[in-house]
Amino acid sequence: MDCFNHSGVAAVGTCKCCSKGLCSNCATDLTYGLACKNQHESQVEAMNMIIENNAKMYAAAPKNTIIAPVFYLFMGLLFSGFGYFSGGGIVSLPFLMGLGFIVFAVVVFLRNRALFGNGENS
Ligand SMILES: [Zn+2]
Ligand SMILES: [Zn+2]
Repeated sequence: MDCFNHSGVAAVGTCKCCSKGLCSNCATDLTYGLACKNQHESQVEAMNMIIENNAKMYAAAPKNTIIAPVFYLFMGLLFSGFGYFSGGGIVSLPFLMGLGFIVFAVVVFLRNRALFGNGENS
């Protein structure tokens, strides 16, 4: 691919905004991508900012707070169910370990809810 502005000059990349081929003289490197020099720098920068913000919001999304507690709850039920039904009753070690997991799941869930909110007021 040739540079959009200079035919015959090989393009080093494409503008993230308009996707035109750019040679090293026409491109501005914005770390996350290239932009047409003196033309699309602000647009590409804005795009990068939006992408970055989305990534941050996604990382802190309330739905993620449910994964760990559900996992611990599942482990807890598995252990306690195994301990209980394998004949040990409620004093067997697996049952007590499972109980610990369930308590831990509740603690993690409540702590996450306090940190991120419960999603109802967002
Ligand atoms: Zn451009
Ligand atoms: Zn060029």
